[in-house]
Amino acid sequence: MERLLYVDGNTLSAEFVEKPWIKNSYLRFRDGKLIVTSRSRRAGEKLVSKYMPWISRHYRETNDYTKLFERGSIFYRSMRYNVRHVASQSRPKADLDGDTLVIYSRDGAGAEKLIDRMIRHETERAAAEIAERKAKQIGVVFREIKARKYRKWGACNRDGTITVNYCISMLPYELQEYVVSHEVAHLRHMNHSKMFWATVGTLCPDYRMLRKRLRNYDSARRQVYMPVANLA
Ligand SMILES: [Zn+2]
Repeated sequence: MERLLYVDGNTLSAEFVEKPWIKNSYLRFRDGKLIVTSRSRRAGEKLVSKYMPWISRHYRETNDYTKLFERGSIFYRSMRYNVRHVASQSRPKADLDGDTLVIYSRDGAGAEKLIDRMIRHETERAAAEIAERKAKQIGVVFREIKARKYRKWGACNRDGTITVNYCISMLPYELQEYVVSHEVAHLRHMNHSKMFWATVGTLCPDYRMLRKRLRNYDSARRQVYMPVANLA
C-alpha cells in the first residue's frame, strides 16, 4: 500500500509493508521512496510520525542528488543558484545577482561551457585548499591537484598527483572534505587497508557517515548534465 507523505512542503511516496510476524518495525529508503515495514498499519503510521526528523533529513539528501544538476539551477560553493541566460554577442561572462547566476553568452552551448569552467575552477580552488590542510596534518606532500570530468570522485597517483571529479565543489562542504581526505590518505597508503582507513579517520573523523551520504550523490554525477542548454 502506497501513499504520499508531506515532508518539508514536498511530497514523498511511502510504501507501507505489513508483516504481522515481525517484532520491530523499521524504515528505509529505496530508489527515493520510503519503505515502512511494520506489524500493522497503525504501528507503521506511529513510526513515521515518531521519526519525521530522520525522514526529512534523508529525504533532503536523497533529493539533493537529483537536483545537483537540475535544469535551470546550479550549486556553487554548496549554494543553489537559479541560472538565467541572457543572449549576448560579447565575450561570455557570469554575474551573481542575489540567488541567480546570470550568464551572458551567445547561446546555450556557450553558457554551458562557461558554467563548466566555473565549476572546475571552484573545485580546483576548494580541493587545493582542503588538500594542503589535510596533507600537512599527516605530514605528506602532493605534487598537484587536478579537477576533471570523470566517473570517479577522486584518484591518487603514485607520483603524488590527486585528481578529483570536477563537480565536487557542488557538494556540501563536508563531503568535499571527505573526498579530498580520502585521496590525501592514499599518499601514505596506496590501498584500502585498515591502516588506510585509520588515516582517513584521522583526517575526517566522520568518514563512515560521510561516505554513506556521498552515495546519495552518485547517480547525479553520472547524469551529467546540464542546467541551461535549452533556456536560451
Ligand atoms: Zn581510494
